[in-house]
Amino acid sequence: LTTGLESAWNKLKGEEVLTKENIFEPMRDIRRALLEADVSLPVVRRFVEDVTDQAVGVGVIRGVKPDQQLVKIVHDELVKLMGGEFSELVFAETGPTVILLAGLQGVGKTTVCAKLASYLKKQGKSCMLVAGDIYRPAAIDQLAILGKKVGVPVYTAGTNVKPSEIAKQGLEEAKKKNIDVVVVDTAGRLQIDKAMMDELKEVKRVLNPTETLLVVDAMTGQEAAALVSSFNLEIGITGAILTKLDGDSRGGAALSVKEISGKPIKLVGQGERMEDLEPFYPERMAGRILGMGDVLSFVEKAKEVMQQEDAEELQKKITSSKFDFNDFLKQTRAVARMGSVSRVIGMIPGMGKVTPAQIREAEKNLKIMEAMIEKMTPEEREKPELLAESPFRRKRVAKDSGKTEQQVSQLVAQIFQMRVRMKKLMGVMEGGSMPTLSN
Ligand code: GDP
Ligand code: MG
Repeated sequence: LTTGLESAWNKLKGEEVLTKENIFEPMRDIRRALLEADVSLPVVRRFVEDVTDQAVGVGVIRGVKPDQQLVKIVHDELVKLMGGEFSELVFAETGPTVILLAGLQGVGKTTVCAKLASYLKKQGKSCMLVAGDIYRPAAIDQLAILGKKVGVPVYTAGTNVKPSEIAKQGLEEAKKKNIDVVVVDTAGRLQIDKAMMDELKEVKRVLNPTETLLVVDAMTGQEAAALVSSFNLEIGITGAILTKLDGDSRGGAALSVKEISGKPIKLVGQGERMEDLEPFYPERMAGRILGMGDVLSFVEKAKEVMQQEDAEELQKKITSSKFDFNDFLKQTRAVARMGSVSRVIGMIPGMGKVTPAQIREAEKNLKIMEAMIEKMTPEEREKPELLAESPFRRKRVAKDSGKTEQQVSQLVAQIFQMRVRMKKLMGVMEGGSMPTLSN
């Protein structure tokens, strides 16, 4: 009756430990996934080397395939690499906290200014914006309009005053008004150039900001590494804000920021509305960069299923020949659940070894068994002997479940076979790790 289940289970079991050989191909896929997500090449190289070293020798969770296990390891490493937890903004101990924003043109600095003000207002902090981009009159107007929209004052001094001078005046004004946080907008260029860097350096010197945040467009491709590197070397950053995450990009730039500068991403912008600014969660980002969310949730699920089996209790029951229909159900259900998940996995190239027919067969069998077990009394479930000894009981179960007497007899015989088999298996195993339905 369980042959379908057993073979499905065997196919799912896969190998036990990650080796150089069995991770070679999946590692190549991961490398490709990272490059497709626009993680810079040097970062990818280093990362792949590190993870390969780490992964070899790692045990594979039962029911999970080596490549799936590898994706999970890679994911956890990505999370670690991006700082693990999210990093909070730092605030000044005394006086106003100054946040200086830097970045190329069009990445979303001016928008972030207003979003930040709105974000901080919600935390009960008073805010002021400073219009430090003097090259386009429209930039000053844009900030003034956005400031009004989120209800915070904007300090402007026109286009004829040097940005460092505006910054100084703005900070003075904020001190006078007892403002908690001053956010300073600056001009960007399409590309990094010396004049921009010199100006930024000067603004930074005057302000001595608490945070200097590099605003990075999530669409930034391979250039992210060079970009982060030069801003960090030239002006020194304390973190970054990743914008336009609402677009299609997988956001590999995020990985480059931390790898290259050692500084965390603190916030992400994901939309044009003022509310679209959130803390940066490495966990989510790792999933997005890998683009293998389905594999990740499968591995999590497999772990869950294994825990539900409650190994210790089951072991006790097996050794004392108490393995009953309740345990039987629990086990077969666990296996069947893995089967349905494997259908999803089957859609991923190179991973589908369990045929849909096998899964359908296993699920059909499980339904039949469940129907019969459901019609047993609690006593019968715990003591299969009752059914073995009484044809009347078997007849009743058959009638109530709409199955044949022969099917019920088979099921009862099966649990005794399983007891014997599992006991044998237990004898062979050291340390008593979980036995499976197969042998
Ligand atoms: P700046 O040159 O760095 O100051 O960039 P701006 O703040 O002027 O933004 C440039 C464009 O990007 C504007 O049209 C913004 O509305 C848009 N923008 C900014 N942040 C986001 C975001 O998170 N998502 C989307 N979709 N658009 C954004
Ligand atoms: Mg701007």
